[in-house]
Order: sequence, then C-alpha cells, then structure tokens
Amino acid sequence: MKLRRGIDEHVVVVGAGLAGLSAALHLAGRGVRVTVIERGEHPGGRMGRADINGYRLDTGPTVLTMPELIDEALAAVGDSVAQRLTLIPGAPAYRASFADGRHIDVFSDADAMAREVERFAGPGEAAGYRRLREWLTKLYELEFDGFIGSNFDSPLSLVTPGLARLVAMGAFRRWDNVVRKFIADEQLRRVFTFQALYAGVPPQRALAVYAVIAFMDTISGVYFPVGGMRAVPDAMAAAAENAGVQFVYGATVTALDRQGSSVTAVRTSAGERIAADAVVLTTELPDTYRLLGRTPRRLIPVRAAPSAVVAHIGCRAVPDSAHHTIVFGEAWEQTFREIIDDGRTMSDPSLLVTRPTASDPSLAPPGRDLLYVLAPAPNTDVGVIDWATAGTGYVEGMLAAVTARLPEVGLDPEILHVVDPSDWARQGMAAGTPFALAHTFSQTGPFRPANTVRGIDNAVLAGSSTVPGVGVPTAIISGRLAAERIIGTRVHGGEAKAVRP
Ligand SMILES: Cc1cc2nc3c(=O)[nH]c(=O)nc-3n(C[C@H](O)[C@H](O)[C@H](O)COP(=O)(O)OP(=O)(O)OC[C@H]3O[C@@H](n4cnc5c(N)ncnc54)[C@H](O)[C@@H]3O)c2cc1C
Repeated sequence: MKLRRGIDEHVVVVGAGLAGLSAALHLAGRGVRVTVIERGEHPGGRMGRADINGYRLDTGPTVLTMPELIDEALAAVGDSVAQRLTLIPGAPAYRASFADGRHIDVFSDADAMAREVERFAGPGEAAGYRRLREWLTKLYELEFDGFIGSNFDSPLSLVTPGLARLVAMGAFRRWDNVVRKFIADEQLRRVFTFQALYAGVPPQRALAVYAVIAFMDTISGVYFPVGGMRAVPDAMAAAAENAGVQFVYGATVTALDRQGSSVTAVRTSAGERIAADAVVLTTELPDTYRLLGRTPRRLIPVRAAPSAVVAHIGCRAVPDSAHHTIVFGEAWEQTFREIIDDGRTMSDPSLLVTRPTASDPSLAPPGRDLLYVLAPAPNTDVGVIDWATAGTGYVEGMLAAVTARLPEVGLDPEILHVVDPSDWARQGMAAGTPFALAHTFSQTGPFRPANTVRGIDNAVLAGSSTVPGVGVPTAIISGRLAAERIIGTRVHGGEAKAVRP
C-alpha cells in the first residue's frame, strides 16, 4: 500500500494506545495528516490509569523496557524522550524472591549481575551467566531488526542468512533447554525463563527465540517514568498533537465505509463520518474483522494468551523494598500447566509485586505506598472460574502470599481496585485477557495475523494482536510497521517494500 497522491492525504488511526500513538507519530513525521479516534477519554489504552483515594494507579504494564523505541517514535516528529520524560533506571531491575527465603537481585549491568549470581549460586554459575548474556545479546542482535522490527510479506521472505544463523545458535530449540546449557541452578534459571509467561507459553515448550524477552528484561534495562506509566502515552500524544495530529476522544469507531477494496471513511458512535485515505486499526482482532467485514482464513483457531488478576493496594510506606519483586512459589512447571492447560488458578502462586512509590513517592498520599500485585490467571477460554464469587477470596489469598513472603510490605492494607479476567472481558478484550494472542509458533511472525488484510487496499493493523506481538516495545514497533506499510518506505533502517506500490 502507499498513499496514492502523496503526503497530503488523510490517515485515520483507530485507538490511542501505544500502537496507535506510534503509528500517528511516524505518519505525522512523514508529513501525513493524521486523526486518531479513541473511545476512551485519554491516551494509553492498556497502559491504563486510575486515580483512587489520592493514589495514582497504573492499571496496565509496569515493566518498561527499550525506551529507545519511544524515542524513535518521538524523533519522527523532532521530539525526544529527553524533552518529555524522566526515566528512572531500575537498579536492580527486579528482585526475585524464592519460597525457601533466598533472593537474587537482577542487575542489567554485566559485572553487578555476575557478582550477584556468584553470591547466589557460586562462581561457576556466574561464568555461565556471562555466557548466557552473550547468547541472549547475540539472539537480540540477530532477531530484533531482522525479524521483530521488519514487515514480511510471506513466510518465504523470512528465509534469510539471519534465519540460518538463528537456527545455528539454537534459537529454535526449547527456551528452558537452552538456558539449562548455561545455568544449572533451578532457581536462577527461572530468572531467565519466567518471561515465557508473557508469551503465553511454558518455558519448557516455548522456543528459545522468545528468550529475546529475557534480554529486554534482564540485560537491556528496566525503567520507570516519573509520574507513572501514564507519562509515556501522555508524552507521545502531546508530541503528536504538537506535530499537528488531531485527537478525538470519547468516540468509538462503529463502522468503516468501503468502496470496492478501499476504506473511504470511518463512522463513529457520535454519528460522525470521517473521510480517510487509509486507516490503521489497533482494535481487538474480533472487532477488527467485524469492522472490515472479514472472516479470518486460519485453519487452526487462534489461541489466547493467559490472563491476569491485578490487585492495587494502598499500604503503609516502607523505605527499602524493591520496585519490582517476583515472588516465586515452590511450584514451577505445574504453575504453567494450571493456568494454560487446566484453566485453574495457581495452587502455589508466583506473583509480580510492583511498588511504583519506590521510584516516585508522589503516586501515593504521604506516608503510604502503592502496591500492584499481578497474578497470572487462566483466560476465559480455558478458565473454569466464576470470578464474581471466587474473586474476593482469591485476592485475599494473593495478599496473604505477598505478606507471608515480603513481611515488610503490605502493612495496614486498603484494597483500592481489582481487575480480573471477567473485567478484562467486560472491557472488550477477547478471551478475557489483556495479552492478546499467545506467542505459540503458529501465532508468531509470518503465522500471526498479518498487519495487512487480503482484499482491502488501505487498511493496516497494529497492536498486540498482529505482528510483532504483545508488550510495550512490540506495540510501539507495530505502529511503526503500520506506518511503513502506508508510506511504502521504511522509516527505520533502509527501504521497505510497499504492499501495493
Ligand atoms: C495488566 C497488564 C500488564 C502488562 N504488563 C506489561 C509489562 O509489564 N510490560 C510490557 O511490555 N507490556 C505489558 N503489558 C502489555 C502491554 O500493555 C500491551 O501489549 C500494549 O500496551 C498494547 O498496546 P496496543 O496499542 O496494542 O493496545 P491498546 O492499549 O489496547 O490500544 C488500543 C486502543 O484502541 C481503543 N479502541 C479499541 N477499539 C476502539 C474503537 N472501536 N473505537 C475507538 N477506539 C477503540 C482502545 O480504547 C485502546 O485505547 C501489560 C498489559 C496489561 C493489561
């Protein structure tokens, strides 16, 4: 696809989440006139927010990696992260706490982490960590620009020397087996494999190509923006507005007008008709297909990623607890089985406990801390849980697990807000999961729903349901990939092939 007459044409972006904001910035940077239509009242989408009892909650992502991608999107309109955001690097990025009372801090710095691994598991494992780090870095270098950050038009176009190098380094073996080659300690291995859950696949079954998430989490650095995660979409939207992008909030796109194979306009719930030369859709996949009047032609039905219960808790402030702590239960393989295959909650939970007030105390009233506790949970496709009746007890159990393991946090608690899979479903998310389609092999890269739609010339998809996939970095990349499809050239690293020149 390529805008027919050039840059004076109008692109409508549906959704002001990270994918939509990124697409808008990259398009505006190329001089394209852009309107973003968002059903919510502010930008961010899943990078959500809520203000409750004087606490400023982040309701979505808390682990911010690869801020250079935000910078790349802002740079498209001559703006920058430095001008818009104050990012605090996590040092440590995480604390991993184990059921036997041991803990290890995860540092992005190689020497600091090698020292910590040596303290935790001895010099042999520290040497293994350094070799794993090299392997993960090589994986990232081969995979990121060549595969994750590029548009592909067919599985065959993936067959490149880069692919051969990935095969040679073992990237298509099982993630857990590859990490096992470097790290013998079972607890330490979890630090470099638990991210498989983000991909929606147990580490024992996930391909090692997905270990690139472990690179982002443990090597490339984890950051927190002052003001909370909402500062990111606010900055991107402000920069886009500054570059002339128009935002329409509080309007749901209900239909697309078509003439033959072209979308000609977007219709909103407010009764408006907005003419468009091209559209970027960051809607949920079923909504996207409905808007386009398309039925997907997949042979196998799509598989949704696991979901999560998130509890937001106000509690007494403590001075010295980490920003992110992963509280691992004793159980491990069974945990993945319960959530992904059996549709049950974890019998021995592993939880992500985030304390944003560790980095920005202004997010809670004076003397108080804000906790965000995330429990992976089955999605509503496999889940057999009636959250209306089981939810309260489950959240109490989550809290008890946190305070048993981290007695310094969670004192004098007030539960501010809870979101469970039935809430995600009510918010319109397919299968009650905010993490879209699982990254199984058959739903990755050229096998994931593509960002172009057969038979429609000027609609492009972006966001977590399409390529490259779920997460903050990937959503931002998907916006760029969508923009590249429309502009017909790469805005990053060389020329791209226009779908319909
Ligand atoms: C609880 C939780 C924790 C997470 N943790 C992390 C993490 O720590 N690190 C990480 O990297 N990622 C994390 N993620 C994933 C990450 O947040 C998402 O992958 C990413 O934000 C998705 O962005 P998006 O633009 O694709 O989708 P969205 O943010 O959903 O954006 C789509 C937008 O489109 C709007 N919209 C939809 N339909 C319409 C319509 N018809 N008309 C108008 N507007 C419409 C929606 O309101 C929304 O604003 C987390 C997500 C959640 C929910």
